[in-house]
Amino acid sequence: MNIYAIIILITLTISFILDLVTEILNLKSLRKELPAAFEGVYDREQYIKSQEYTRVRTHFGFVTSAFNLVIALVFWFAGGFNYLDQIVRGWELGNIWTGLVYIGILLLARSIISLPFSIYSTFVIEERFGFNKTTPLTFVLDIVKGTLLALIIGGAALAGVLAFFEYAGSYAWFYCWIAVTIFSLFMQFIAPTWIMPLFNKFTPLEEGELRSAILAYADSVKYSLKNVFVMDGSKRSSKSNAFFTGFGKNKRIALFDTLIEKHTVGELVAVLAHEIGHYKKKHIWQGMIIGILHTGIVFYLLSIFLSHRGLFEAFYMEHMSVYAGLIFFGMLYSPIEMILSIFMQIFSRKNEYEADRYAVETTGEGENMINALKKLSVHNLSNLTPHPWYVFLNYSHPPVLQRIRAIRAINVG
Ligand SMILES: [Zn+2]
Repeated sequence: MNIYAIIILITLTISFILDLVTEILNLKSLRKELPAAFEGVYDREQYIKSQEYTRVRTHFGFVTSAFNLVIALVFWFAGGFNYLDQIVRGWELGNIWTGLVYIGILLLARSIISLPFSIYSTFVIEERFGFNKTTPLTFVLDIVKGTLLALIIGGAALAGVLAFFEYAGSYAWFYCWIAVTIFSLFMQFIAPTWIMPLFNKFTPLEEGELRSAILAYADSVKYSLKNVFVMDGSKRSSKSNAFFTGFGKNKRIALFDTLIEKHTVGELVAVLAHEIGHYKKKHIWQGMIIGILHTGIVFYLLSIFLSHRGLFEAFYMEHMSVYAGLIFFGMLYSPIEMILSIFMQIFSRKNEYEADRYAVETTGEGENMINALKKLSVHNLSNLTPHPWYVFLNYSHPPVLQRIRAIRAINVG
């Protein structure tokens, strides 16, 4: 075994064990007593159900990741990467097409392997806890649409990257960086109008009390709000949410129909104010800039390791190639990715506090935001007492009790 194989193997093992340990800690920190802040919002039975939900999801997550790890290791050490390479090379498709087919087959195999898990998650676990609204038809259509999009959009982007590294010489990483950045900004720009409607129906929020209250609020913070959309989240799940997508003229805020159903006008304005807070505090732009810089660094490092023979030998490859290098580098890079993701989660949790603060300060009160958060936690059966280490590694939002405490600490007026 060479140094590359050892680094990758250690990373896979450590991240598996780390997940396992934090998940066990997380289960151990489930508390029997209902936190005081949720007195009267949660009845005892539902609270116990929420803990059962956390337990079931955790066990399922453990089985899934253990299975995936075993499959990956068996494929690796049985020489699967080289075996597949020999077959695809035998078809003599030329450099770019060989790469597209090779990566395509690996991705396809991964989706097929994960399909039973996905079916079980949707139709057994989510069903059991009353969340599932996905029909088998929607489930199949989602897979078909998702696969077609991946083939067209992902295929085009991958072909570009392979072509640059194949033919553009030593500045290939730089061209890739520029091209992928433009491409992904374009995708984010068209996502709200062209891509997301393929999966969900977006209807403009109808005239009425809610719409007037939202427009009055947006006006008061000088946010030009032309688009508030209602998304038919109920098509797949009874869980509720709200989000901000796109940018420039194409930016829009979407509220799930399931959210509108369960919340008061005041609470919905608070949720919307939180989303506008992300925009006003420039979180959207910061996220994009970090993403762009990260892409550049990844391509630069990739360009260095593509010529390291040892990386290919670690996977028993007879030939070096850009396409296989992409996959192996992705695995070699995963420890850095893991550390970066921890920083990104810290950054994201800080942004959530800021958006909450913005919502409270601009609406002039915190009770609606607090009530909205409580209801969201109850309806989505969120874990109220996650272990701090689990939060540190995995949470993009602070735990709800900490958000409520932070909101209560804000002096309004
Ligand atoms: Zn947020």
